[in-house]
Amino acid sequence: VIDWWLYVALVVALSAGFFLGLKQASANQKKSLEPVGEYYFKGLNYLLNEESDAAIETFIRALEVNSETLETHLALGKLLRNRGEVDRAIRIHQNLLARPGITLDQAQQAQYELATDFVKSGLLDRAESLLLELVAKDGNYKVLGLGRLLEVYRDEKEWQKGLGVLQLLSGSRLSRSYDEWGPTKSHFCCELAELAIFSQDHKTARQWLRKALVYERDGFRASLLLGRLEISVGNPNKGLSILEGLLVGRHLKYASEILPHLSGAYESLGKIERYRAFLCRISELSNNPVIMIALSELILRQSGDRAAAEFVAKSVIDAPSGIGLNRLLDYYLLFTEGKTNDYLSSLKQVIGVVVDDDMHYQCDHCGFRGREMHWLCPSCKTWGSLHLKHAGIEG
Ligand SMILES: [Zn+2]
Repeated sequence: VIDWWLYVALVVALSAGFFLGLKQASANQKKSLEPVGEYYFKGLNYLLNEESDAAIETFIRALEVNSETLETHLALGKLLRNRGEVDRAIRIHQNLLARPGITLDQAQQAQYELATDFVKSGLLDRAESLLLELVAKDGNYKVLGLGRLLEVYRDEKEWQKGLGVLQLLSGSRLSRSYDEWGPTKSHFCCELAELAIFSQDHKTARQWLRKALVYERDGFRASLLLGRLEISVGNPNKGLSILEGLLVGRHLKYASEILPHLSGAYESLGKIERYRAFLCRISELSNNPVIMIALSELILRQSGDRAAAEFVAKSVIDAPSGIGLNRLLDYYLLFTEGKTNDYLSSLKQVIGVVVDDDMHYQCDHCGFRGREMHWLCPSCKTWGSLHLKHAGIEG
C-alpha cells in the first residue's frame, strides 16, 4: 500500500520529469539539464522523512534511468548520503553503474559518487580500488578522484601512498598548484618522520624532515621535530637554536608547543640562566601570555614569590590578559589574609572559570575548539590550522 505522501512525491516527481521533457523537446534537445525544481525536492524530503525502505525502493524504480533522469538519481544519491543513509546511496549509485547506455563521463561520475559513499561508510579498501580505477583514466573526474584518494590514504595513515597522490595532484615544480600542496606534503613527510623517530631510526627521520622542509620552507611542525630530534640524539645546542629560531621567527603563536622542549633541554644542560635570558628577550619583543607565564615560573623558582608577583603585575598592566590576571590573583592570595583574602578568593573563582573556558586550541579555518593539539583539524581536516588561543582581556 503506497501511502499518501509517497503518492504526492511521485506525482510531483513524475510531472516535473514530464514538464522537463516537454521543455527539453522544445529547446531542441540542448545538452545541459535544468534542475528538477524546488517542489520535487520538497516532495522528496517528505518522502525521506516519512517513509520506509520499501517506499524508497518504489521511488527509485519509478524513475527509470536514462540521460534525462541521471541527474535526478545522482541528486537523490547525494541527498541520501548527506542524511547519513549511505547504504541507500550506495544502492542508487551501483544501480546507475549497472545500467547500459550511460556515457563514459556519466559512468565516471557515478563511480566517483560511489567511492564517496564508501569513504563515508568507512569502507576504505573498496573506495581505494574504485578510485585507483577512476584516476588511471583521463577524464573530468581524474582530479576529483585524486583528491578523494588522498583522503582515503590520509584516513588509512598510508603516508607514502598519499605522497604519491600528492605528487600527481601538485604536478611539476612549475605548475600552478605546486605551492598550494606544499604544506600538505610537508605534513605527510612529518608523519613518516614521527614513525621513524618512534622506531629509533633517526637517519630516516632526518631524511623525511629535510624533505618536509623542502616542501614547506620554515614549516613549523618539521622544524619542531628536527629541533627535538637534535636534542634527543645529543646535539642540544643545535636543537636549541632551531627551537629558539621558531619563537623569534613567525611561529610565536605555537609557544605552548615549543616551551616544554626548550625548558627540558636547558634543564638537562643545567643552563637555566640562559633560558631565563632568552625568555626575557622574547617577552620584550611580544606580549605573548604563554611566554609571560613561563618566565614568571622561572622567576618564582630563582627569586621567590614577591619577585614573580611583581613581574606578573607589571606584565598584566602592560598587556592585559586573562591568564596573567588569573596568575596574579594566585600570588595575591598568598600575600593576604582575612576578609581581603576572601574577596580575592571569590574573584579568583570567577576569573578562573572565564580563563579556563577560554584556554583552548582553535582551528583558524573552521573555528573548531578543543583541549588538545592536533596537526590535522578533526573537523575540517585542514593541516596545521590549530593553535592555542588564550583569553586576552583585550580580546
Ligand atoms: Zn578546522
